[in-house]
Amino acid sequence: MGNPVIYLDNNATSKTAPEVVEAMLPYFGEFYGNASSMHSFGGMVAEVMKKARKQVADLIGAEPEEIIFTSCGTESDNTAINSALMSNPSKRHIVTTRVEHPAVLNYCQNLARQGYEVTFLPVDRQGNLDLGYVENAITDDTALVSVMWANNETGVIFPVEEIANMARSKGALMHTDSVQAVGKVPINLAKTNIDMLSLSGHKLHTPKGVGVLYVRKGTPFVPYINGGHQEHGRRAGTENIPYIVGLGKACELAAQNMDEENTRVKALRDRLEKGLLKIQASMINGDPMHRLPNTSSISFEYVEGESILLMLSDLGICASSGSACTSGSLEPSHVLRAMGVPFTAAHGSIRFSLSVYNTEKEIDYVLEHMPGIIKRLRDISPFWNQKTATG
Ligand SMILES: *Cc1c(COP(=O)(O)O)cnc(C)c1O
Repeated sequence: MGNPVIYLDNNATSKTAPEVVEAMLPYFGEFYGNASSMHSFGGMVAEVMKKARKQVADLIGAEPEEIIFTSCGTESDNTAINSALMSNPSKRHIVTTRVEHPAVLNYCQNLARQGYEVTFLPVDRQGNLDLGYVENAITDDTALVSVMWANNETGVIFPVEEIANMARSKGALMHTDSVQAVGKVPINLAKTNIDMLSLSGHKLHTPKGVGVLYVRKGTPFVPYINGGHQEHGRRAGTENIPYIVGLGKACELAAQNMDEENTRVKALRDRLEKGLLKIQASMINGDPMHRLPNTSSISFEYVEGESILLMLSDLGICASSGSACTSGSLEPSHVLRAMGVPFTAAHGSIRFSLSVYNTEKEIDYVLEHMPGIIKRLRDISPFWNQKTATG
């Protein structure tokens, strides 16, 4: 690949911030102590962990004691759901949505196979939930409501604070997968009824392999990983200090960058969409009024998303079709299917997801090449030719 990479796939994973690498480096080599040790060499490491915990807490309006470090967003999601069920053994029902990330969706599907009752709430054509449905779905038997804050494929934002109020008033716990929302949407957990929240480092400019589960003080909690007394007995296993330090730094940077995400990055995303919508038979997926500032899911009817991706990849442009977890299969994304996006459009969908590292020049490069790519693919598409021939 002769071209420099234009990275527009930040919802799949993000560029590691140089400041994060710099913060992590000493803890790979020189300062290898164990935070649980009695000696001061270990104690020093316990101190940097304390700082990281505060940095994470500050970004989401939490107390440091409410932060549990985990290995990833998936572990945080699984832990939250498991804990809600284990701490309320008399309740056997979960409410979630059809558009969750597989880290929630597959876990809940497994629970359904084990005999738990799971309500998978539908979304409308814009990707929005009907709050009336949500409220009706929560019963006396509901242990947990788990609804993502922002969708990784479309960027659609759910009113999780309102949903948390409903859960609280009906005696159910509320968890939100906020992996995509953190750093883009202002979050102040102290002012909400959200009981548990998941986030992941590598969507926030750390390397892959660190996450957080927030658990509100007083929320009943049962650990998923059992062993030593780390994380106040809530998540066993010797702490991954370099990554925890990196995540702390990333959260500090995210707080500084939140304005830019919602102004400059959003303007770049809007510029990209405006240009791409000039291409015939194209459409944006997801409610444009309730969407992350960095995400664009766009469909080009009668072409294969995978073909577009390969041609973009030849130009050094990184994007994705549906979620990274489902690419490789020819099934259209479960999110677009839940929204009722027509088959011909769901198959030709591409997700661009930006970050503060993107520039206007990069967006213009994409805009320069996309019309030609779509034209070439449509020229060889029998469906497109049939459609245009018959009008
Ligand atoms: C990436 C992602 C996850 C999984 O996080 P990992 O750290 O990769 O396990 C969960 N939920 C959402 C919405 C995501 O985008």
